[in-house]
This record gives sequence, structure tokens and C-alpha cells, in this order.
Amino acid sequence: LRKDKSLMPTTKAFQLLTLLRGLGVTELTMPELTGEWESKLSQIERGQLDRDAFMHQISKIVEQIVARAKNYGATTVPGDYSTLQSPCPKCGGLVKENYKRFSCTQCDFSITKIPGSRQLEVPEAEILIAERTIGPLQGFRSRLGRPFAAILKLNDEHKLEFDFGQNDDDENSEPVDFHGQESLGSCPKCQSSVYEHGMNYTCEKAVGPNKTCDFRTGKVILQQEIEPAQIRKLLSEGRTELLTGFVSSRTRRKFKAYLKCGDDGKVGFEFEARKPKTGDDQAPSGKKLPAKKAETKKPSAKKSATKKPARTAKKLKPRQ
Ligand SMILES: [Zn+2]
Ligand SMILES: [Zn+2]
Repeated sequence: LRKDKSLMPTTKAFQLLTLLRGLGVTELTMPELTGEWESKLSQIERGQLDRDAFMHQISKIVEQIVARAKNYGATTVPGDYSTLQSPCPKCGGLVKENYKRFSCTQCDFSITKIPGSRQLEVPEAEILIAERTIGPLQGFRSRLGRPFAAILKLNDEHKLEFDFGQNDDDENSEPVDFHGQESLGSCPKCQSSVYEHGMNYTCEKAVGPNKTCDFRTGKVILQQEIEPAQIRKLLSEGRTELLTGFVSSRTRRKFKAYLKCGDDGKVGFEFEARKPKTGDDQAPSGKKLPAKKAETKKPSAKKSATKKPARTAKKLKPRQ
């Protein structure tokens, strides 16, 4: 029996609920019923309810589900599914949602609805298909359950891939054209311009084939999204506002911090000054804690001596 386990809807549970709703099996999707089943199970344990009678009820419901499910193929489960506003990137046909995927009605174009155990919402899928990229998006989970942020993109074969911006570290990376993009300020290391780029804010001299700088800071750091306005502040004043949504990857606890630019141009955390206790004459502005390194961890920063192809975005199987 379930004990003290929170009811966290998992990818499979989402799929199952959509499936059951599509099949018209509403009994199982009602939380009250699940609760009622549990209370019946505990009655059985205490000998207050006949086990066979209960099992009979259950098997009747299961029979009903199986009978209904037999009438549908995997992609024809009815449901409240959307037709996407964006046409198929391959053939221009209509792209429709089914219970597991977004699929073209004319060709074999099809992408999962749940990349990295995260539901891809219809408006997100529309942006992804229209612009071939979206993100960074948060809320993905690795197979070990660790949260991660990533950019989703369609590759040349129109397949869905995660892009962590790892090819920016490639020595053969293509030059990046920041033309028409607004600079967020000047680089603390070399005074060149800083721009939004993929998963990061980056110095214009820190990308492309002839890098002369390495200033870069993540758009998402420990689940905290860093808005462009905060980067402007960081670059002009040396520090962001107090950001409240960091989540420690070690303790999984939320914490607040400023992002601060050190003298070496590295971005680090600065923690809020502790409130002085009453009657205690601690330094009024609080002591500054040493800034820790706050760069985003790259899920795969493996450097290999062999030349990589220009496009090295990972397939939809995050390690980590
Ligand atoms: Zn198509
Ligand atoms: Zn620079």
C-alpha cells in the first residue's frame, strides 16, 4: 500500500490520464475514487471487507477499460486534441496532437509531447515548429530525476533535439552574427558587447572561431531564470537585484542570492546580509561572503581531441 508518498504526476501518469479520458473511462481519473479504493483496501486489511467482492469490482472496471482500449490504435485515442497553428516544417501539412505526440497528418513528421519528462504545451510546440527552436525551457528531468533547463530545437532532419549550447565550446564553431541584436552592456573582462545567445548571455568575443574572451553567464542558473534586465544591471552596476528562486542542486532547497561580478570578471553568488540581532552591533551592511562560482553547469562538457561535426546537439537522451 501507498504510504506517505506524495501523488506526483509523472509523465506516464499524464499519458495514462489522457488515455483514460480519451477512452471515456472516467472512473479511474477521479481522485475520490482512488481514495475510496484505498479505504477499501485498508478495510480488507482489517478484515472488514471481503477481498473477493472488492476484486470483483476492480476486475469489472479493468475489463471495461480493456474492451474500450481494443477499439483504438495507439495514435487514434480520441481526446480533446489540438491542431497546431504552425504547419508541418517538412511538408506544410496540418500538425495535430495525439495522446503521445505532435504529428503531421500528411507525412512522417512527429515529435514527442513529453521531451525530458516535461509536457510540451501546445503554444510551445507551435513556437518550436515555426521557429525551429524554443527556450531555454525549464522543468526537464533527467533519468535520475535531476531538473535541467535546455533549448529544444528541430535538427536538419526535423527531429527534436536538446541543445545545451555545447557547440559554442567547439574550436570550429561557426561565427555568430549579433547584428540587429541589442547589447546588454559591456563585458567585464574585455569591454566588448554582451548579448543573449542560446542558453547564455555571452561576450561577443567569447563565441565563434576566434575567441579572445570567455565571459559567459547562464540564462538559467540553478532553476532561477535570469532576465535580460538583471544582466544589464549586473554589467552596469556589478550586481543584480536579489533573486529568490535559486534551488540548490545538493540540498534541493530554495535560496536567495545576488549575482555579482567579481574583480576577475567572473559571475558569482553574493548572499543577503544577515539581519543583525537586536542589541547586537554587527556591521550594519553585513559582511560580504566570498562569491562562489555561479556559472551554469554544462550537462556535457566533454572535450574530445577528435573533430566534432559542426552540429553536436544531443539527441533526446540527456545523460547527467
Ligand atoms: Zn508533414
Ligand atoms: Zn569579453
